[in-house]
Amino acid sequence: MKLIKTKAELIDALATIRGNIALVPTMGALHEGHLSLVNAARAENDLVVASIFVNPLQFADLGDCDDYRNYPRTLEADAKLLESAGVDIIFAPDVEEMYPQGTPEIWVRTGEMGAQLEGASRPGHFDGVATVVAKLFSLVRPHRAYFGQKDAQQLAVIKRMVHDLNLRVDIRAVPIIRGADGLAESSRNQHLSATDRNNALALSATLAALRERRIDLDQARAELSNSPGVELDYLEVVSPETLQPVTWPPSGPALALGAIIVGNTRLIDNMDI
Ligand code: AMP
Repeated sequence: MKLIKTKAELIDALATIRGNIALVPTMGALHEGHLSLVNAARAENDLVVASIFVNPLQFADLGDCDDYRNYPRTLEADAKLLESAGVDIIFAPDVEEMYPQGTPEIWVRTGEMGAQLEGASRPGHFDGVATVVAKLFSLVRPHRAYFGQKDAQQLAVIKRMVHDLNLRVDIRAVPIIRGADGLAESSRNQHLSATDRNNALALSATLAALRERRIDLDQARAELSNSPGVELDYLEVVSPETLQPVTWPPSGPALALGAIIVGNTRLIDNMDI
């Protein structure tokens, strides 16, 4: 396995590759969720590139915020995990390597799709995500790129970007990996105390109750709002492709997505309904 920090070395390492290249973009602090993306990539490609880059563009104030500064950075442990999972190349550039002139002038604009749900609380987040993913696609030129359903809005936005910009990459969606208690694995779970983690379970429990039609959407919102230690940001039921709200109860395929704040940590989750 190669650990590569510059664009030039990456391009060089990929220049002679003939088979299918997979890209697994991450921000590091890896867990079982990321490894499931790597496993899917390993199973159907000749060469697997995993990127590790905490992208300031997708954080509040272009990274001038505690969320960005406190984001867990564990490159050494991540590299060991990726090596044992069979990754061929880790691309882990620093910020100056990705943005040598500082904030880029030209961005990908994610419009209405990126402005709602997560985007309403995190303005510009998806423009930052789409911009860095477009840069990574351009550097790696993968045949397939792997994204987790955990970040359902991100997945929908990236699929739409590939469609709208005619990017020649196949986007593969990988199911959510959860802990035994039902909490979706997330790098941010590291910030949770035992009590926080227990309180956070209200989100997956409520989504499951919705899926099983044990409660309706209004009851679900009320339950989450009244749940101890939980601040509800949003809970919506939407079309998985357009992210437009659908009426309850949904008649076709729908996705319930929610975001809560527990302690100082913002957590998201979703389930097919
Ligand atoms: P992140 O490092 O948080 O940016 O995540 C990198 C990729 O891993 C994204 O495509 C995420 O959707 C995916 N991912 C994160 N957590 C999970 C999870 N629990 N299950 C499946 N995929 C995940």
